[in-house]
Amino acid sequence: MVKRRKGERYTPPKIKQAKLVTADYWTLHAVARFVDPSDDVAALAQRMAVTCRKNNGLAVAAPQVGHDIRLVVLADGRAILNPSVEPDMTHGTSLEREGCLSYPNRWWLVERRIAVDVTGIDAFTGQPIGFSTYRGDYESTIDARMWQHEVDHLDGLVLVDRYEEVT
Ligand SMILES: [Zn+2]
Repeated sequence: MVKRRKGERYTPPKIKQAKLVTADYWTLHAVARFVDPSDDVAALAQRMAVTCRKNNGLAVAAPQVGHDIRLVVLADGRAILNPSVEPDMTHGTSLEREGCLSYPNRWWLVERRIAVDVTGIDAFTGQPIGFSTYRGDYESTIDARMWQHEVDHLDGLVLVDRYEEVT
């Protein structure tokens, strides 16, 4: 487990873009560090949103672009620090094909919770956020699936190690 030293600030290196790392890059397989809300990750988050959209992703996690920090950015530009997901046990699970920007054109069969509660910190405002993904429609099950997938990335968990690959 990678642990952050007390008082240590994360300063992302100056980068022009947030490029996806290759499948064997270490950040994809490590437990990422918690981010202090005062850390300057706004520029990185904006670049990650661009990378996400360019690759037709729903979201991208910082370890996918080589940063071992707990930051998830959505295609719509929202960026959440230290996100966590709690299963909403009043709803069940679903089994679906799932892909990953880090493993293009490959698919796995993955069982996920249909609804989760997400908490974290808005990366731009520093304000705490919390919401349920549940809206009672199919799209919201995809949101729940996405959040579970992204938080797995922050824990170094990738589909290729954990699930049955399908064509
Ligand atoms: Zn992924």
